Amino acid sequence: MQTFGNHTSRTNQSEATPALTRRSFVMGAGALGAFAMLGGLGLTGCAPTTQTADTGEEGEAESFDAIIVGTGGAGLSAAIAAYDKGLSNIVILEKMAVNGGNTNFSSSGMNASETKFQKEQGIEDSNDLFAQETLDGGHNTGDEELVKFMCDNSAGAIDWLDSLGIKLDNITLTGGMSVIRCHRPTDGSAVGLTLVPGLVAAVNERDIPIRMSCEATELVKDGDAVVGIKVKEGGKAKTLNARAVILATGGLGANQEMVTKYRPDLAGYVTTNQPGATGDGYTMAEAAGAELVQMDQIQIHPTVEQETSTLVAEGVRGGGAILVNAEGNRFFDEMSTRDKVSAAEQEQPGGFAWCVFDQQVYDNNKAIAKYDAAGIVQTGADVAALAEAIEVDAATLQATIDAYNAITTDGATDEFGRTEGCIAFTPGAMYAIKVAPGIHHAMGGIRINANNEALDASGNPIPGLYAAGEVTGGIHGNNRIGGNAVCDIEVFGKNVGEVVAAALA
Ligand code: ADP
Repeated sequence: MQTFGNHTSRTNQSEATPALTRRSFVMGAGALGAFAMLGGLGLTGCAPTTQTADTGEEGEAESFDAIIVGTGGAGLSAAIAAYDKGLSNIVILEKMAVNGGNTNFSSSGMNASETKFQKEQGIEDSNDLFAQETLDGGHNTGDEELVKFMCDNSAGAIDWLDSLGIKLDNITLTGGMSVIRCHRPTDGSAVGLTLVPGLVAAVNERDIPIRMSCEATELVKDGDAVVGIKVKEGGKAKTLNARAVILATGGLGANQEMVTKYRPDLAGYVTTNQPGATGDGYTMAEAAGAELVQMDQIQIHPTVEQETSTLVAEGVRGGGAILVNAEGNRFFDEMSTRDKVSAAEQEQPGGFAWCVFDQQVYDNNKAIAKYDAAGIVQTGADVAALAEAIEVDAATLQATIDAYNAITTDGATDEFGRTEGCIAFTPGAMYAIKVAPGIHHAMGGIRINANNEALDASGNPIPGLYAAGEVTGGIHGNNRIGGNAVCDIEVFGKNVGEVVAAALA
């Protein structure tokens, strides 16, 4: 293997984060002083870079085998997999002061089929069915080859994460899936808060450098090939040479200008994305000749609390919650795909819904305690008390709940067609979160093949340029199934690391 000299020093890499909230992330991006005061959060990799070989001069570039841009699930996984396949002269760049990207906020879990955990729990599933439901969910606009690759390799990714100490053995259901295949941490908590610290720990164990607050700005080409990347770091512009660059820069939800360039109708929507999700990867890749596909496919998520932009995980509905409108009536199959549920919600009075659930749902979805701590959960000792708290007619809400319970207890057919995740509410405390759609996920992006090579408009790989995760396009088509983003970033993140290591060997 040809190896360039590695002149980078190690960034101070902190330990895994036990509990990072979107709010603290936003503060980390915008108010570092205040953020530092939250020392108890144990921020991942938030220390400033301590690079010692900082020449500050263009032309005296550092050189790597591979540069991975982005510390979300895709980037961290790529680095670990590349390292484990023998590539040690690598570096991860992160423009924010906090690592983990939107992966930090992944809530539902990771869809995967034919896994050992499903088998242990007697859940029958097949990769083909998973692929079919993914394609169906995207209304057959997803890339079949990529979808098949993702599903076929999903169980392997679950095993790989397990080998890194990230056990996802608590399985639930997400909208659009007919089989319980959304893998969560054992305690049912939001997957991102296990995934990111677990991957960061694995990166640290391997001593792979992460350069925080280091923003990639432009790919460097020599002829057709990508041979490096320009960055802004410590107020200086630098060029880093690389034999391969892996873009894992995530989506564009925090860039209103770019969102509305592709989707003018989404002007003014709140976003669930972290502030660093500004679509830089698309700009850099396109300038280097990569094709962007399906860029207008920006997913809005139906259950976003609007004041805090908190995403209420789909697992909450999968675990039994219902959506009722301002009048206390259900209006749609809550387990339908996100595009349809969002559209139905927008047609309701005020364009919002209450996500209503009981103590059982509360207890089985650890993320709810976090929502509660953030002050967005309304509570009542019973249905009537909740109705009063959320100002809907108590009799109507009670009738709605009785009708919902009948689906599970009397075998009644749901008038909205819900067949999944129907779990009767038990008497006692009831809860509700006010939700409406928010910008959530970029389903379009850099066109890749199953080797994660970035492709030009003719379908030819751009030598030296790879991409993985949300920055890529075409896997989800025009509707992403909940739980498939984590599957995407893990399968393709692991894959790109292995592919690049093999290519450079
Ligand atoms: P994925 O789910 O695909 O892994 P994430 O959103 O979780 O995507 O992570 C992407 C990461 O890439 C974020 O931490 C984001 O701040 C980082 N990032 C985005 N643009 C740049 C850039 N220009 N330079 C360095 N890091 C970037």
